[in-house]
Amino acid sequence: MAANSVCRVAMRRHFARNASSRRLSARPTYGIGTYATDRHFSSSVLQDVDQGGLDHRMPLTTFSEDEEMVRDAVRAWANQELKPFVREMDDDCKTRPDVIQGLFDHGFMGMEIPEKWGGSGMNFTSACLVVEELSRVDPSVSILVDIHNTLTNNAVRFWGSEQLKEKWLPRLASNCVSSFALSEAGSGTDAFAMRTIANQSEDGSYFTLNGEKLWISNSREAGVFLVFANANPALKHKGITAFMVDAKTEGVHVGKPEKKLGLRASSTCPVIFENVKVDSEEVLGEVGLGYKYCINILNEGRIGIASQQIGVGK
Ligand SMILES: Cc1cc2nc3c(=O)[nH]c(=O)nc-3n(C[C@H](O)[C@H](O)[C@H](O)COP(=O)(O)OP(=O)(O)OC[C@H]3O[C@@H](n4cnc5c(N)ncnc54)[C@H](O)[C@@H]3O)c2cc1C
Repeated sequence: MAANSVCRVAMRRHFARNASSRRLSARPTYGIGTYATDRHFSSSVLQDVDQGGLDHRMPLTTFSEDEEMVRDAVRAWANQELKPFVREMDDDCKTRPDVIQGLFDHGFMGMEIPEKWGGSGMNFTSACLVVEELSRVDPSVSILVDIHNTLTNNAVRFWGSEQLKEKWLPRLASNCVSSFALSEAGSGTDAFAMRTIANQSEDGSYFTLNGEKLWISNSREAGVFLVFANANPALKHKGITAFMVDAKTEGVHVGKPEKKLGLRASSTCPVIFENVKVDSEEVLGEVGLGYKYCINILNEGRIGIASQQIGVGK
């Protein structure tokens, strides 16, 4: 059976059994998305302890039947559909569009997005398994999938308004690659020292973004950027606000990709925002809470990166 079929069959079987298997699953689906929207990873684990959940939880090294099925499906797809193009993509410093569409078509780009929005409706462990398995074959492709799933998709899921979810989640699950635009020349580890500014219009209907982000993964392929900008620098980090910015918006410029020693097929570029007008409805969550969302979501992102490293090691 071709990898595509293997993968689709496995995923379809998963979907068919999804509801019942979830009820029966020995492992509760924990990850920050499973609980209240503003809870971070460590406190969700604490909640399990509080509720005596640890008694029922399998060790992290033991996967549920669903998780094993996802792992096998993505491994088959990566070996058969991705491996033949790894050398070419590395030489070209570019991920093939058909590979990206294949990731969408197999549900790998919407791992934790609920099925009602076209996602795969799976758990965080499954999302990490996808990253790990892709990394065994091509870590450039896995970084694209990791950032998309663990950072943007989850940020929209946790803190986006219903309107924002309705607008973006179906696209993020089906054909729109996302980028996470936080770092700047003078703002790496110290992320909150950012200089990108968001000025709100007098009538409050839109913000104007100005600034330059650096080392932004997926930026060449992105249909949308999750951008962090300060809407009130007088309040320091408490002015930082998150925006969903359509890549086609006037004033969004993606610069020349960095020349890297590894992950060459993954685009890492500067992204310039020059008088970019963003509707206030595209604010993710609340104005001024961007720093909180950022801290929370990067906790998940780090686990995704760790999965990537395990895959590379394998
Ligand atoms: C391949 C690649 C992809 C990336 N993709 C993205 C992306 O998609 N989106 C995005 O927003 N950013 C991205 N980045 C940027 C990345 O997040 C930053 O590189 C990272 O935050 C570190 O910032 P920096 O490079 O400025 O290093 P610095 O902040 O200058 O740190 C340099 C070193 O000093 C150490 N250090 C810093 N501050 C302290 C301190 N106070 N005490 C002790 N030690 C300290 C750090 O640990 C590090 O070892 C990417 C980077 C790379 C290389």
